Amino acid sequence: MRNVLFVVSGPSGVGKGTVVKRLLCRKRFALSVSCTTRPPRAGEEEGKAYFFVTREKFEAEIERGGFLEYDEHFGNYYGTPRAFVEERLKESSVLLEIDVVGALNVKKSYPKAVLVLLVPPDEETLKERLKGRDSESDEEVSNRLSRAKFELGQAEKFDYVVVNGDLDTAERELFEIISKEENAE
Ligand code: 5GP
Repeated sequence: MRNVLFVVSGPSGVGKGTVVKRLLCRKRFALSVSCTTRPPRAGEEEGKAYFFVTREKFEAEIERGGFLEYDEHFGNYYGTPRAFVEERLKESSVLLEIDVVGALNVKKSYPKAVLVLLVPPDEETLKERLKGRDSESDEEVSNRLSRAKFELGQAEKFDYVVVNGDLDTAERELFEIISKEENAE
């Protein structure tokens, strides 16, 4: 059996968080902790929510190739630390839950990563799920939908595509993928 870096990705509203949480109840995975330049929010602990670093330190790490992927959101950097993930991989498989662009960047810097794209059964379902989150305005829903179209268009670059229509089925399929990859030669 080998330890594998699994990247679970998919558009906002597809249910990544729920599927990943269920998987974590069934199997021991290491999770990555990202680095960020944004200040900690109340209750966020160093090394748990994130590793909080300065812009200077973050940029120096970019130069060194210290991130499997990184991006800027709302004026702050966020990245997946390579050394942290590689250290974790010595002990067990590692699971990253990350957006589609981030997932594709991980594959570039770490080609052995196994990329899984979680997709909605159809566009209407995704729309309903996004609308069901009260936190999102109409404009936000429509932005997320157009982003989702772009993200779903990247499916062929992923190793596996799992349809999240029925949660039990999606969880089972993902579990099977993980077992198959861990047991591959
Ligand atoms: P927040 O500041 O609310 O914790 O996160 C803001 C955004 O950063 C979220 O969309 C989150 O998914 C994204 N994010 C968190 N960690 C990483 C990371 O390691 N890499 C990338 N590319 N995005 C991240």
